[in-house]
Amino acid sequence: MTMNMPVPPIEFIDLKAQRARIGARMERAIMGAVEAGQYILGPQVAEFEQKMAAFCGAKHVIGTANGTDALGICLMALGLRPGDAVICPAFTFAATAEAVAWLGATPIFVDIDEATYNMDPKALAVALDTATRLGLKAKAVIAVDLFGQMADYDAIEAFCAEHGLKLICDSAQGFGASYKGRRAGVIGDFTTASFFPAKPLGCYGDGGAIATNDDASDALIRSLRFHGKGDYKYDNVRIGMNSRLDTLQAAILLEKLAVFEDEIAARQVVAARYDSGLADMALTPFIMPECVSVWAQYTIRVPAASRDAFQAALKAKGVPTTVYYPKPLNEQTAYKRFPVAGNGLPVSERVAKEVVSLPMHPYLDEATQAYIIAAAREALADVPKVKLGQG
Ligand SMILES: *Cc1c(COP(=O)(O)O)cnc(C)c1O
Repeated sequence: MTMNMPVPPIEFIDLKAQRARIGARMERAIMGAVEAGQYILGPQVAEFEQKMAAFCGAKHVIGTANGTDALGICLMALGLRPGDAVICPAFTFAATAEAVAWLGATPIFVDIDEATYNMDPKALAVALDTATRLGLKAKAVIAVDLFGQMADYDAIEAFCAEHGLKLICDSAQGFGASYKGRRAGVIGDFTTASFFPAKPLGCYGDGGAIATNDDASDALIRSLRFHGKGDYKYDNVRIGMNSRLDTLQAAILLEKLAVFEDEIAARQVVAARYDSGLADMALTPFIMPECVSVWAQYTIRVPAASRDAFQAALKAKGVPTTVYYPKPLNEQTAYKRFPVAGNGLPVSERVAKEVVSLPMHPYLDEATQAYIIAAAREALADVPKVKLGQG
């Protein structure tokens, strides 16, 4: 394909293509929920919770208003309070640490693995030392499944078990992925998901969920998301939140979940095309053996000095790109005051300057993707390839 060939506007994440596929069923589902009139915790919510649990293999799924609340509710369930510390990566969306700070506890940032961009399990011991040195009680680890690939849970679970730490998997970007045969949702004490529209399983507004295999946690979370209600709605037995998944969003998610398996497969095809089209010129994603990414993002790395020019060149050709994330949390205004494990986060800080994400969604057709790849190759012609371990 030549670079002059006209292409329709390229979307970073094309939600219209999915609508064209499931639009009619979706409209019936939405109008059905509107007409039934059970707008709060209608039957669609329980049905979606059951289907999501079946999809991932978790014993329980509890819908929440969004993925950030889902994290906050898990931390409330753990009784997190001031003086407690939670170990989490800094190379993530702010919500991961925000929920910890809500409860007056302290996030301690750990560095990431340079190949996967996820929490480096080898850095956890240093983070624990940092907590102890600061007089904080480490209570939990929040691992993030960044860009759709699950964190290295064998090592993280072993560390948490050894040190009596709870494990929360922030799978806002990873729901639908699997780690050595286990799907996001069944690992650790809790897994949180987000249905923000741009996530792999997105609704038409805000939505989230918590998955757990523990019966007592399931009951506690159902209470926490509903103002801490007891058996009877006007006997509130604890301080909770108002954070339920809307009936309308659950109706939408039921339709989307029905095609999700198929979309996950389509995402593998799109990612493989990018791999073969770009791997000789840019550092392309590394997926761990026996793991399947849900490809929330397809993120490559280019030298820091070339990134702006790379993005500008693609933009000039109508190809949108995004940087997730230009600054790790330890460099952001609201989060600078929180401790970092050991002497700093060199990998997070370097990677933040080099990453750039390309358009990624299950409906990216071959011709459009060939155009994107050609545009990227042209922009990378004189740019040295980033190699791992050069920081
Ligand atoms: C999107 C996201 C969240 C928050 O989800 P919301 O539903 O937008 O509240 C949390 N963590 C990560 C890593 C995310 O990407």
